[in-house]
Amino acid sequence: MSSNVFLDQLDAHTLRDRLENEKLALIIPVGSLEQHGPHLPLGTDAMLSTKVAAGVAEKLGALVAPAFAYGYKSQQKSGGGNHLVGTTSLSAATVIAQTKDLVTSYLKQGFQQIIFLNGHYENYQFLYEGMDLALESFNKEQLGDRYTLLLSYWDYVGEETLAQVYPNGFPGWDIEHGGVLETALMLHLSPHSVDMSRAPGGPAAVLPKFDRLPVVAARTPQSGCLSAPDGATAEKGKLLYDDAVSAIAADLALELADAAVAV
Ligand code: ZN
Ligand code: MN
Repeated sequence: MSSNVFLDQLDAHTLRDRLENEKLALIIPVGSLEQHGPHLPLGTDAMLSTKVAAGVAEKLGALVAPAFAYGYKSQQKSGGGNHLVGTTSLSAATVIAQTKDLVTSYLKQGFQQIIFLNGHYENYQFLYEGMDLALESFNKEQLGDRYTLLLSYWDYVGEETLAQVYPNGFPGWDIEHGGVLETALMLHLSPHSVDMSRAPGGPAAVLPKFDRLPVVAARTPQSGCLSAPDGATAEKGKLLYDDAVSAIAADLALELADAAVAV
């Protein structure tokens, strides 16, 4: 993975020239600072969304902005809960404001598309709101044919890959926090950040259909993971990564008019 897709590595004059000569798309990875059990780092969501974004950007000739390092509050049913140590979150208003400010600034600088690649479940609707509010500050003429997109990377993992990664049946994305998906991807993309000797076992969390506040802390497994990373390997991580990157790049290539795709 080359580093030349990263916006923060470019000098301003090179960026200015590229914006003048190309219809340039910008991918913004979105993560969180959130406990992911004893075996994965707090920055897992931002690390993974950045790696997926880099893979997609290389295929599309796009750039990757610095990731959102913090996200919206972790919810018990998708991230273990916002009460856990290490989990450090933003309010919805802050996520919306940050999203709106960045879309506005990047569109004003001349990017053609701003693409949010989400890696933290709870962010989604607030990114959507920030995107929508940002567009309100442009009239039709200023905006032209430019637009903004939002996706979560796990939605692009295909059935065939799921069957290989979860031979005993796919449990659902909602309890995947700190489980097989994120652990396998981290083993593939950042193996030195994972300590499998500390990986938790045990059954998946059983959580109610409702959300209760304050949360009943005991409903989150002691490990902080909503399911165990049983069977997570770097090979499965590569399968998940390659599948998601190819599928996202193919989907976006259809959407982006002048994308130079080498899928
Ligand atoms: Zn995560
Ligand atoms: Mn998360």
